[in-house]
Amino acid sequence: MRTTITPLIAGNWKMHGTAASIDEARAVARSLSEEPAPARVALCPPATLIHRMSQALEGGPVEVGAQDCHALECGAYTGDLCAEMLADAGARLVIVGHSERRGGYGESDVQVAEKVLAALRAGLEPIVCVGETLEERDAGEAISVVTGQVDASLPEDLAGRAFSVAYEPVWAIGSGRTPTVGDIEAVHRAIRDVLVRRFGEAGAAVPILYGGSVKPSNAAEILKAAEVGGALVGGASLKAEDFLAIVRAA
Ligand code: PEP
Repeated sequence: MRTTITPLIAGNWKMHGTAASIDEARAVARSLSEEPAPARVALCPPATLIHRMSQALEGGPVEVGAQDCHALECGAYTGDLCAEMLADAGARLVIVGHSERRGGYGESDVQVAEKVLAALRAGLEPIVCVGETLEERDAGEAISVVTGQVDASLPEDLAGRAFSVAYEPVWAIGSGRTPTVGDIEAVHRAIRDVLVRRFGEAGAAVPILYGGSVKPSNAAEILKAAEVGGALVGGASLKAEDFLAIVRAA
């Protein structure tokens, strides 16, 4: 029997947005309230907007997430935010292991797994990002790199908990380039194999999102690919109209 997975479309605003941008989130929520989509929808604004956005969207069809968290609950870590603080501000999900954190801040799989544990400790649903660089893809290593990241970034404690995995080829993020649908399917199938090996039947129900230059013009093709259970959307999530077009393609 094929497991039915409700797709998750999550927007990652990265370091974009001020108070005025909440209007875009409101517009997304308004449209989805009027005409519901067959997908879960989340927006992950900068941490400064989590509280305001979660209040503006409370009780509506759009969940609010964070973009990262510290692994520890408190301590002398100037500028960092722990998962409990993000939950307290209104976040329900958190992205961990984004390639901009892995690449820009040297985060390892072990650190990503610690952040996943922190998310679970705080009751946040983790979206765990993985993805190969262009050099790794060109060397024919995409699948081995990604499955290695999945294995090492997912702690056993995820058993029985809600989470998703986002496959985001580093070279596709913000570049306008995407892998072929066949390449996406091949990586997603390999991720599914790891999830089922690690988590049994529950692993068959974990949404595997694709991320990297998803836009209104390519969303339908990507979202209907085998084992694609949603999308993590960067640039195209900043404007309600574009993000809604992607959500409606799910
Ligand atoms: C991302 O950074 O998670 C992302 C998918 O970005 P973009 O959609 O802009 O490529």
